[in-house]
Amino acid sequence: MKTVYSDDHNLHSGLLDPRGDAWGPSAECPDRANNVMRAIRDQDFGPLIEPRVFEESRLTRIHAPDYVQFLQDVWQEWLDSDEKGSNARPETFVAPGMRHADTRCVAGKLGRYSFDTTTPFVEGSWQAIRTSANIALTAADLLESGEKHAFALCRPPGHHATENYCGGYCYLNNTALATQSLLDGGAGKLAVLDVDYHHGNGTQTIFYERNDVLTISLHADPALEYPFFAGYADEAGAGAGHGFNINYPLPFGTDWDKYEAALADALGQVRRLEPDALVVALGLDTFIGDPTTHFAIKTEDFRRMGQRIGALGLPTLVVLEGGYSVEHIGENTVKFLTGLAAD
Ligand SMILES: [Zn+2]
Repeated sequence: MKTVYSDDHNLHSGLLDPRGDAWGPSAECPDRANNVMRAIRDQDFGPLIEPRVFEESRLTRIHAPDYVQFLQDVWQEWLDSDEKGSNARPETFVAPGMRHADTRCVAGKLGRYSFDTTTPFVEGSWQAIRTSANIALTAADLLESGEKHAFALCRPPGHHATENYCGGYCYLNNTALATQSLLDGGAGKLAVLDVDYHHGNGTQTIFYERNDVLTISLHADPALEYPFFAGYADEAGAGAGHGFNINYPLPFGTDWDKYEAALADALGQVRRLEPDALVVALGLDTFIGDPTTHFAIKTEDFRRMGQRIGALGLPTLVVLEGGYSVEHIGENTVKFLTGLAAD
């Protein structure tokens, strides 16, 4: 299996997260992707290839043009403003009843296009964000050219990003961009399976009213966990997309036995659709040793997870999302990919 990877993600560093009374280093750090890359390289899992560069028009198949422009310009606008700090981030958000479309200052734009405070910008962010999207699009091309599996080693991740909002460490929705690319390349219907610990709210929202993409997410119950406001079991899609979104909110402490039952049901839904291909949003933050989460999936379970998904026999594109156990993310990723390719 080929892995698409670039060192550009290292430009997106020095990110700070709110931690109690202070700001601390973000859990979404360069070592995550570097350690996945090293595990793939050191275990000879398969070739690492560089992404191609795609036109911006590929990004606006999913994202609003004004949002893409914001992502591109925000750091320079931050420098040109009176705002202070090494991370450009919002402090005011849009609430119902606020008229917001014509804000022009950078602080206003940050609030207009963000839904949380965990998704800052630094000098190299745009290059990393753009390359991460190119990685997903390159991996989609591999599938189109006949590869059975491909792995997009994306950083920053993408599944929380909507058409025009960043949040949850995500800016461009790499999974959605790859999915759209496969459809534009001739696929008739696709399934997206999100196994990140957190609900893939961005991907869900993007495809919510469409019947060419079945979106499925297994995740921690949003009544107790980020992103709090989406990911409930009654969110089934709308309009033409009704019945094309399925959520499996799971309790804290979910181990492989409980997870496997939900996964088996989800895979049954994929089988019934008979899609042309599957896109997996792979988060490794379901891991028992993840410092930020509350599931109990073990390293060997990731191989089983990959194996179950691989048994579908579908062309499968895997896109890296979350996972914050820097020490174990590489090993867990390779386990998953090994299981997937075993069939
Ligand atoms: Zn996550």
